[in-house]
Amino acid sequence: MSFFATVEQVPGDPILGLTDAYNADTRPTKVNLGVGIYYDESGRIPLLRAVKQIEQQLAAEAKPRGYLPIDGLAAYTSATRELVFGKDSELVAAGRVATTQTVGGSGALRVGAELLAHTLPHATVAISNPSWENHRAVFTAAGFKVVDYTYFDAARHGLDFDGMLADLAKLAPGTTVLLHACCHNPTGADLTEAQWKQVAALLKEHQLFPFIDMAYQGFDKGIAEDGVAVRIVAEAGIDSFIVANSYSKSFSLYGERVGALSVVAADAAQSRAVQSHIKRIIRTIYSSPSTHGAALVAGVLGSTELRAMWEEELGQMRTRIHALRAGLVAKLAELGAPEFAFIQQQAGMFSYSGLSRAQVDTLRDEYGIYAVGTGRICVAALNQGNLDYVAKAVCAVSR
Ligand code: PMP
Repeated sequence: MSFFATVEQVPGDPILGLTDAYNADTRPTKVNLGVGIYYDESGRIPLLRAVKQIEQQLAAEAKPRGYLPIDGLAAYTSATRELVFGKDSELVAAGRVATTQTVGGSGALRVGAELLAHTLPHATVAISNPSWENHRAVFTAAGFKVVDYTYFDAARHGLDFDGMLADLAKLAPGTTVLLHACCHNPTGADLTEAQWKQVAALLKEHQLFPFIDMAYQGFDKGIAEDGVAVRIVAEAGIDSFIVANSYSKSFSLYGERVGALSVVAADAAQSRAVQSHIKRIIRTIYSSPSTHGAALVAGVLGSTELRAMWEEELGQMRTRIHALRAGLVAKLAELGAPEFAFIQQQAGMFSYSGLSRAQVDTLRDEYGIYAVGTGRICVAALNQGNLDYVAKAVCAVSR
């Protein structure tokens, strides 16, 4: 008897499939703009100097590898709490924030969703339209009903803020609202500080539960500036919310799976109770997290010298992205396509380029340039060596 005889193939991840197609392409001029990874000027994933230094120090010390506690390395979770909520956070001082090391930002989303599925009055989550593809899948897998809220205005290439407010106001109390803290994936359209204040006030008034996904802290304006959504939600007096954060991009540690889940509760006693549930959830999935990535991040954040080095390197990544946006917009304008000026206003690695699926197909077939079917491009995969080629191709397909 064959146990798996009735198992049918399910579709693979479309973005990862794009990379397979790119790898199989033999054209030397090919460019992969479909990825969700920051590449440096030489087209490689950077190994940050601060990370390399701490790695060498840790290797020299060569400690034994016992299990970490279920909720992770204490030095990592406390440094994360400070980075995400700020040094002077009243919530942290009051013992209201329970931070747990997770398997990447994805793990934080899933563990957070599992917690909410068991504790909120109803498991409904509203995600932005569009959102990172995995948001829908992760919350669905945790038993949530997933609904959309208006977010992007394709005609104006920017945020549809009125539409967003109107949709959020219609949600039933107790609904979870998934918010991208900064560098919205896939659109690159972010809220201003004033808009965050309006959203936070609305969430409080309508008793909605904020679940902030912060996968790109430091990739747009700076560490504190990109964390403004967390500060504003806290200051709005919303007593409970969640922040899922990831160091995959900001430390260029994709494969180390470094993320964290921070749950804010109304008081320290509630926070301890919530943490006990989180530990139980983790115990039954992967028991405890891995040591290496957390030790690297904690080591860098805990050293004045390495932290300064990391902040400088993060600043360089952010500056390069801004320069690439400006460079692409300038080149397109020079080629007679000034309508792409909006790309410079978008934040983070991604841009909704406005290219149609048919144009994306032509880019791939005729130029070996790979973008997501929605028109999402990864600006951080551009460099001085491919920018002109990409600009010319984009210009050609949009004429
Ligand atoms: N949230 C968003 C918005 C993301 O873009 C990503 C990564 N692409 C994640 C979460 C997941 O991060 P990680 O790779 O650390 O699991």
